[in-house]
Amino acid sequence: MSIIGNNFLNISAIIKRFLPAQPCVLCGSMSHDGMWCAACDAALPYFDAPHCRVCALPTPSGEVCGHCLKDPPLFTRTTAAFSYSFPLDKLVQAMKFGEQLALANAFAEKLALRIDQSDLPDCIIPMPLHPAKLRERGFNQSLLLAATLARKLDIELLPGACHRVRDTLPQSALPWKERKKNVRNAFRCDMDMSGKRVALVDDVLTTGASLNALAEAVNKRGSVESNSWVVARTLPH
Ligand SMILES: [Zn+2]
Ligand SMILES: [Zn+2]
Repeated sequence: MSIIGNNFLNISAIIKRFLPAQPCVLCGSMSHDGMWCAACDAALPYFDAPHCRVCALPTPSGEVCGHCLKDPPLFTRTTAAFSYSFPLDKLVQAMKFGEQLALANAFAEKLALRIDQSDLPDCIIPMPLHPAKLRERGFNQSLLLAATLARKLDIELLPGACHRVRDTLPQSALPWKERKKNVRNAFRCDMDMSGKRVALVDDVLTTGASLNALAEAVNKRGSVESNSWVVARTLPH
């Protein structure tokens, strides 16, 4: 670590100490560590297992998985910060359904640490919500994640490039094999993406069907590469 890096860490550690302590969202103990305390952070399911580089499914030695070999998705690569298991799943649900919006910032900061800074895309597109769903929820958690990532990594955010044109059933309400059909042609991209490398941001990747459908819409407008950036990857049972 350089002297500048060390100084920066010291400064941020000092700033942290002057911020008011806040209760950890997981255990309730007061800390200066942000949304959750250091002990709870150490116990979070960080996504460290060897995995398929395309869809992030764990594979024995990090090789491309059978699904991606047989039926390659339209995105090239997936980066996930966590696996979608306890207690991270509860935190994601608290962000989406409990309106704990500050969690989006904390998740995006963890995800940003996983992104290869030497190979950044040209722009970031959040998974769009249908306008009816947006009215109901009041916010799009993927846009909150994407906005923080764009700011931290200094990449252009394109919040209005893509739209969800069909109000689909929630993917989580459907069996895995019906999810692809549910989101077919659900998205439209209204921007010329010629020659652009794009990062698509979503909270959770389970089958990858939504991200695949979004990648299809973006690729149709000329994008040369779509990558999936997600807070968490669902692992097979
Ligand atoms: Zn805690
Ligand atoms: Zn795969």
